[in-house]
Amino acid sequence: MIKHFFSHLLTPDGWRQDVTLEMDEAGTITSMQDGKASEASVSHTGYAVPGMANVHSHAFQRAMAGLAETSGNTADSFWSWRQVMYRFVSEISPEQLESIAAQLYLEMLKSGFTSVGEFHYLHHDPAGRAYADLSEMGHRLMAAAGQAGIGMTLLPVLYRYSGFGSLPALDHQKRFTCSADQYLKMVEALTETYGENPNHVIGVAPHSLRAVDPDLLAEILNNIPKNVPCHIHIAEQVKEVEGCLDWSGQRPVDWLASHVELDERWCLIHATHVTDNELDQIATAGAVVGLCPITEANLGDGIFPATEFQQKHGHIALGSDSNVLVSLHEECRLLEYGQRLTRQSRNLLGNGHKSTGQGLFETVVDGGHQALGRPGKPGLQVGGQGNFVVLDPRHPALTGKPLNAILDSWIFAGDHAVVKDVAVNGKLVVMDRYHEEEASITERFSVVMKELTASL
Ligand SMILES: [Zn+2]
Repeated sequence: MIKHFFSHLLTPDGWRQDVTLEMDEAGTITSMQDGKASEASVSHTGYAVPGMANVHSHAFQRAMAGLAETSGNTADSFWSWRQVMYRFVSEISPEQLESIAAQLYLEMLKSGFTSVGEFHYLHHDPAGRAYADLSEMGHRLMAAAGQAGIGMTLLPVLYRYSGFGSLPALDHQKRFTCSADQYLKMVEALTETYGENPNHVIGVAPHSLRAVDPDLLAEILNNIPKNVPCHIHIAEQVKEVEGCLDWSGQRPVDWLASHVELDERWCLIHATHVTDNELDQIATAGAVVGLCPITEANLGDGIFPATEFQQKHGHIALGSDSNVLVSLHEECRLLEYGQRLTRQSRNLLGNGHKSTGQGLFETVVDGGHQALGRPGKPGLQVGGQGNFVVLDPRHPALTGKPLNAILDSWIFAGDHAVVKDVAVNGKLVVMDRYHEEEASITERFSVVMKELTASL
């Protein structure tokens, strides 16, 4: 049994002061009581808020951050980014992936994310051959999550084709592609290895409607458990919507909603270009839309109509996707600012809460918990997990602020130094902005970066 005392704690019922949470060995909150710190408890002075799930990450892309901001010689806005991405894809070894991911997950924790949904498609060796253990790269990601101490929902990706209409995969996609048989074996083996650990969840992820076809999608969905998270990239770019219309006569979300049983276990990543009718279909199904504002801005994707979706009681969550920048508060800030800039209005995503920051934060905490199939109840309550972030009351952005402005001050006026301590399942993994494995994780990452950039 672990006891944590908090001077200020954000619960689903609002802020509470001087409260003690008891957690069992697995980090599940078993009681919440008013009262001062006892000798037996770990004492936190500051503003404790729930840890957030980061629902969409491609770990290896962290190594490319800052290397794709140059203009290419064609009109294709993805030119520079894609060239660098494929170059990295052609080289990264299992050891390098583990080192990059450990650094990334460390950064996520220090930013306030306590679990991650890793959308994992770098399956095979650089020649496109399966490793002796088909799940080699998946094991590396799980090992990295273990080193950093972050909760993991691993989403092995099914990737088969290069475009709508079952176009054959291209040479540089050979590390990604699997047959249905290989894919199901991989999911089964990962589930067997990690399924018992409550901090590990294995889901599934058809990459996109471009990369699978209807038969393959049906085969996978018919052969996996009905209760695991299911994620898909969808409607990220206008070109993709046009391709889907040419192929099927339907827009991507419309196609998906009429061909699969869209429900609460689905997470639609991006869903940037959608009609009002498609928003209705997602909201009615109870599926989550996984938004990645920093990456979507970096890639010039467009802006999801989150304001309208929230008015329809749709569920949203946040992901860091390409990991060009890992920042929980900046993802929240950019999500709200994107809506403000396109609507020339203010305070749009508070979801009925007086404080926009608090309403938005609580909304994406709940959406992330659902999308990653995390154990227990969302947020800091009995039956939830002891995943929390303590914000520094001495940080200039927070000093003197009333409780109902704390989240607004972090999200709209704060920086990385606001996050002081972070706990996963009741165990402190970041203390006073420091992770105890930080020096070795960062040193290994630095070696890998030198290897990968040596020939640039
Ligand atoms: Zn993605």
